[in-house]
Amino acid sequence: MQSEERELKLSEGGGEQLEKRVLDIVSAAGEAGVLQRDIWRILNIDSRKGSKIIKRLERMGLISREVVVHKGRKVYLIKATPKLRQIPKLPSELDEIPCFYCPLLPVCFAGDLARILTCEKLNRWLLDSYLPPRA
Ligand code: SF4
Repeated sequence: MQSEERELKLSEGGGEQLEKRVLDIVSAAGEAGVLQRDIWRILNIDSRKGSKIIKRLERMGLISREVVVHKGRKVYLIKATPKLRQIPKLPSELDEIPCFYCPLLPVCFAGDLARILTCEKLNRWLLDSYLPPRA
């Protein structure tokens, strides 16, 4: 169970930001999907780094990847899965709140209080966001 939870979480640090940006691009593409190489171009990342992110998000069940022929060449088309589509889209001001991009949100939202109270990611964000009252 623990390894499954670890697998479901977005990466930490810079990797997490890139994963969020990939998910934003794929979500914005809607039903039509987006070519994998266009994601690399938009994010200005190389295919090696990008492929790792795509494979990870695919394993998490957030995106699907299919081979299509585009301009005579085989390329990957990336689409949002129902799991990604059910994650609520929120204003960018809320980007810092980890829960809104967490695949475990439906589990916590359903009332898993123990998970919420022991969540390192949420507690770290709360501590980092805390502003002491003015004297
Ligand atoms: S508390 Fe938030 S960040 Fe932590 S597992 Fe639940 S939804 Fe994810």
